[in-house]
Amino acid sequence: MRAKIFALFLALALVLVLIINIFPLQFSQNMIVETTREQMLNNATFLASALAPHSTLTREKVLLTLEMAEPNPNTRLVVCDTSARVIYDSISTDSVSDKYLLLPEIGQALRAKDVFFCEYRDQAFHSRLAIPIQYNSEPLGVVYLSQIDEAQGKVLESLRVQMRNISILICAILFILVFFFSSHLSKRFAVLLSGIRAMQDGPYGKTVAISGKDELRVIADEFNQLSKRLEDTEALRQTFVSDASHELRTPLSAVRLLVDSILQSEQMDAETMREFMVDIGDEIDRLTRIAEKLLMLTKLDGAKSLKLVPVNLTDVAKRVLEALVPLAEDANITLKSDLTENLFLSADKDGVYQIIFNLAENAIKYNRAGGFVHLMLFSREDQVVLLVDDDGIGIPEEHRAHIFERFYRVDKSRTRNGKGGTGLGLSIAYKNVTSYGGTIEVGSSPSGGTRFTVSFPLLSEGGELHA
Ligand code: ADP
Repeated sequence: MRAKIFALFLALALVLVLIINIFPLQFSQNMIVETTREQMLNNATFLASALAPHSTLTREKVLLTLEMAEPNPNTRLVVCDTSARVIYDSISTDSVSDKYLLLPEIGQALRAKDVFFCEYRDQAFHSRLAIPIQYNSEPLGVVYLSQIDEAQGKVLESLRVQMRNISILICAILFILVFFFSSHLSKRFAVLLSGIRAMQDGPYGKTVAISGKDELRVIADEFNQLSKRLEDTEALRQTFVSDASHELRTPLSAVRLLVDSILQSEQMDAETMREFMVDIGDEIDRLTRIAEKLLMLTKLDGAKSLKLVPVNLTDVAKRVLEALVPLAEDANITLKSDLTENLFLSADKDGVYQIIFNLAENAIKYNRAGGFVHLMLFSREDQVVLLVDDDGIGIPEEHRAHIFERFYRVDKSRTRNGKGGTGLGLSIAYKNVTSYGGTIEVGSSPSGGTRFTVSFPLLSEGGELHA
């Protein structure tokens, strides 16, 4: 991570240094060349046009013309005739007067071309310019200027030094910034990483504190939420496992006790033995019920997306009532129903059966002899509502908030007779109801018993949700 940031910094610094050190200097150099060219061309043009009216060129005429001009002391002026012979040279030492100046630029100027060369070397601009002198469009000679401009060269050189210093300063600042930024970033990543590792090794619930408002902070927040969720899930799982093993141990201990009693009694009569065996059978039934319901809950917990289909709630309610007739008769309970025909919801058929069966079975189980269970089904606005009323023992107010919890029973003793419940039926019903987008509530029935109210989004017969 750090190495990557530094590599990026190096690349950035290199580009920056190149930009700072090449473009402004190149631009300044071009500007100086262009200004020099214009200046020299102006001077040469002035001279050439002053000399042009003469039909022949002589040193005297040049000197006369030069009196009108203000020659640049840094510039060497040479005037040649058409045969490239020097008529005038402004310098005395190494003068080329009366010699033939056979330079390519003089040759080109004699062919009526303006020629300019400029190069920057040894911290000075070396420039040469040659333009033709014409008399009635006929070549008369050449004005040749050459100059070495050290002043401009110094300007360019000092600019180069300044640019270099600026580059060094920028690089140093960048380096410090990148250093702090990368160490800050590395530290924050290390915090996140330590959190992830801690969660891998130890208990869930580890949170990390990362400052700032960037993406890393978002990742840290997500991590904290995930960690919290895992912690909650783990706690639930542990409670569930310990509750489940406790619930399984109870009938197993009862079986153990009954078996021990049979084994210890040497002369047990057949009738008592039979009673013991019936009790053992009841406990085994209870174990089976717990195992089945646990399996069902595990399936519901693991189900990712349920495949929901339109289900006729009325038909399912009728089937449940039919199935419960023997149980109700045994308990001397009257089954009553008021069912609106063809009410549909989007659900899973078996799940809906489980809901109604659990509620109606409980209403029979937790009732008293001579009592009743009343199933009502109707639609209200865009909802289909199922009421399961009984006039049984009721559920005290303080227990109502808990009865959908796993293994929760209001009175543990009253259902511990082998036929007793598992404390899982309502949690299965709750899980099913919510997975179909419904709600389930518990309250008192008008007769003083219990009322369960279940609502689902109503589906038309065509399978569409009511608006
Ligand atoms: P169980 O298998 O024990 O019936 P449930 O989850 O179905 O488990 O019910 C949880 C507890 O809620 C029951 O043990 C019982 O105490 C109470 N309960 C449920 N339905 C009724 C009811 N209709 N009347 C009174 N108590 C009820």
